[in-house]
Amino acid sequence: MTSDLPTSQQSNSLLRVRKLSKSYVRGNLLRGRVPVEAAKDVHFEVDCAHTLAIIGASGSGKSTVARCIAGLERPDVGEVWIDGTDIAQLSFRELRPFRSVVQMIFQDAATSMNPRFSAAEVIEEPLLIQGQHREERRHIAETLMKKVGLSADWLDRSAAEFSGGQRQRLAIARALTLGPKLLVLDEAWCGLDLSMQAQIANLLLDLQTEHSLSYLLISHDLALVARMADTVAVMSHGQIVESGSTQQIISGPQHTETKKLLNSAKAAEYKPQLSKGASA
Ligand code: ADP
Ligand code: MG
Repeated sequence: MTSDLPTSQQSNSLLRVRKLSKSYVRGNLLRGRVPVEAAKDVHFEVDCAHTLAIIGASGSGKSTVARCIAGLERPDVGEVWIDGTDIAQLSFRELRPFRSVVQMIFQDAATSMNPRFSAAEVIEEPLLIQGQHREERRHIAETLMKKVGLSADWLDRSAAEFSGGQRQRLAIARALTLGPKLLVLDEAWCGLDLSMQAQIANLLLDLQTEHSLSYLLISHDLALVARMADTVAVMSHGQIVESGSTQQIISGPQHTETKKLLNSAKAAEYKPQLSKGASA
């Protein structure tokens, strides 16, 4: 069932997550089927044109939350308000229009791309599914190629001919095809080298400014988080244990888990740049 947020809850938030919980059942040789509480009572908000980073150890529930927000999984309990609608209440069919509002870019988006597909096919596929005409699709694909820093002349090259960084740009172009408001970036470019990562971060920051995009950024790279995020939420064992402005979290962590994450980043000789927009 779809309904609008009560007036008292309206704000500048594009995304509001309330009391989201999700469990899985996992096979265990000794104890049989055991439930795993992947996300427990998760709350957060992402404002229009802002970035929230979720950080946390592996297995803390970050991807589970991301999939629930992208509509790929349904939370057991809770609300996921996107642009005024609680998508957690929608049927699969009702969710369809929201697929264009929220796009997810996965960790292996670049590597899992069908190498036989041309760049045009990669970008145009969502438009083809929507039944858009060939000329219109081509025009949008040309515009998007330029927007992500690729030459429109390369549209007929196969994805296999693009480098890892260029394929990541293609994945971003594809995610932008339907004009989303929120991009969920789940460790999206962790396979790339540092200079390539910095370039992709710059591209995303430029796109954010140009299109007022909101990002939910999941990354274990705290330098990247410091560079891109306005706010940070720290997850541990399925729960958000601390959240605040990026500056607050990085310069004055309160929770043991946050301190642990920052210490291991420091051990890897990470020197944080605290403000969003500082050069990488
Ligand atoms: P993160 O992204 O922070 O590494 P995940 O959200 O992937 O964490 O996983 C959180 C917990 O839920 C982990 O214990 C993981 O093993 C479990 N989990 C995630 N997806 C599934 C699934 N489809 N089936 C069973 N357990 C899962
Ligand atoms: Mg994950």
